[in-house]
Amino acid sequence: MTPTPHIPTAPPVAFHVMLKPSGAICNLDCAYCYYLSKERLYPDSRFRMSDPLLEAFTRQYIESQSVSEVTFGWQGGEPTLMGLDFFRRAVEFQQKYGRPGMRILNTLQTNGTLLDDAWGRFFRKHNFLIGLSLDGPRTMHDAYRVDKAGHPTFDRVLAGAALLKKHGVKFNILTAVHAANAEHPLEVYHFLRDEVGASFLQFIPIVQRDNDTGFQEGERITKRSVTGRQYGNFLIAVFDEWVRQDVGRVFVQIFDVALAAWMGQRPGLCLFEETCGTALVLEHNGDLYACDHFVEPRCRLGNILETPLIGMVTSEKQRRFGQAKRDTLPRLCRECEVQFVCHGGCPKNRMVRTPGGEPGLNILCEGYKAFFTHVDHPMRIMAAELKAGRPPANLMRILAKEELEAQRRFAHIGRNDPCPCGSGRKFKHCCGRRRP
Ligand code: SF4
Ligand code: SF4
Repeated sequence: MTPTPHIPTAPPVAFHVMLKPSGAICNLDCAYCYYLSKERLYPDSRFRMSDPLLEAFTRQYIESQSVSEVTFGWQGGEPTLMGLDFFRRAVEFQQKYGRPGMRILNTLQTNGTLLDDAWGRFFRKHNFLIGLSLDGPRTMHDAYRVDKAGHPTFDRVLAGAALLKKHGVKFNILTAVHAANAEHPLEVYHFLRDEVGASFLQFIPIVQRDNDTGFQEGERITKRSVTGRQYGNFLIAVFDEWVRQDVGRVFVQIFDVALAAWMGQRPGLCLFEETCGTALVLEHNGDLYACDHFVEPRCRLGNILETPLIGMVTSEKQRRFGQAKRDTLPRLCRECEVQFVCHGGCPKNRMVRTPGGEPGLNILCEGYKAFFTHVDHPMRIMAAELKAGRPPANLMRILAKEELEAQRRFAHIGRNDPCPCGSGRKFKHCCGRRRP
């Protein structure tokens, strides 16, 4: 199972269901995977979504959407283990049940190791958007992303990326940030940008609970996990590089999310929404769960072969699941300056206490706070440019000019001198702080 891409969520009338046609089954054995353990939920299963179930879901999913654009998100495990014919039938069902004027999109998250020309042609023909899991240069990627025999996968993943490029398939790179790459943000970023040639990047923090159930319980996390400070520093380093030369050229999901928030818009990513509940998961047998990170018995909503999909999506149980995200926020978050963009992050990571002893603080809080505070100034500039109808990439020119002016103005001030603005802080911690 590749790390979750955190499905974009739409207005309340829309919801998204991530499909797991082969359940948790995967040809790899990534050490930080949170989904492989879900195999234990279905001890006697063959882990293959049947055609009648696929058709029933497609019909219900399309019928219950009141928006004109519907996205089928394929995930696993490794969804390509289902074979191409399964996806050919999936597209046929979508064509059969799609309404006139309705736009149907397919996204598929893969480890990329099973792709060949036939997959490439199919993805291109049907305009699939592919998410490819790649954690950076060889040693960082291979630290945890290994196959069932423990062999490295880097070369096979790069071959998958080359194949997608050869066929002109659109793809995102999904990079998990973990103990093996967290201290090397620029190496990771330069590799993805310059060697892989990727333009769309997601940096997903690995916070892996250390327990035997695979459920969201217990307070210990594994050593592979990233700390809040590491994650914040990672994002800040990548942002400072991006903001100098790549705005409008490289797209980093969390930067887009931040910009939306500074524009007063919804983030389009469940992690940073105020509430949850519109990003669900369908297992291979028709079981529907509240969220990809809560595929566990207490969050099972029912089975679409027994209960209509829309009934489960709008059920009281799912509503409570979604609103708990907002209603359980500790006071520290409610009074936080960056709460408007952070919203306390994903509930799955709210496993520590605030300094005042209140439970429910996100283990990544330190990183989120540092990152969102750091980007405030450039985000304000980009939001203003956009509102004025100008390209946000103007930011690069504006910041370069500001930096030059600051250098001229403060040329005579030592880094440890009191700041001339009168703040009382040292110059290096105030106006002399290097701007991105
Ligand atoms: S718990 Fe909420 S924020 Fe976290 S992944 Fe699920 S829907 Fe998204
Ligand atoms: S930065 Fe920390 S305190 Fe602020 S909203 Fe996010 S998790 Fe809560």
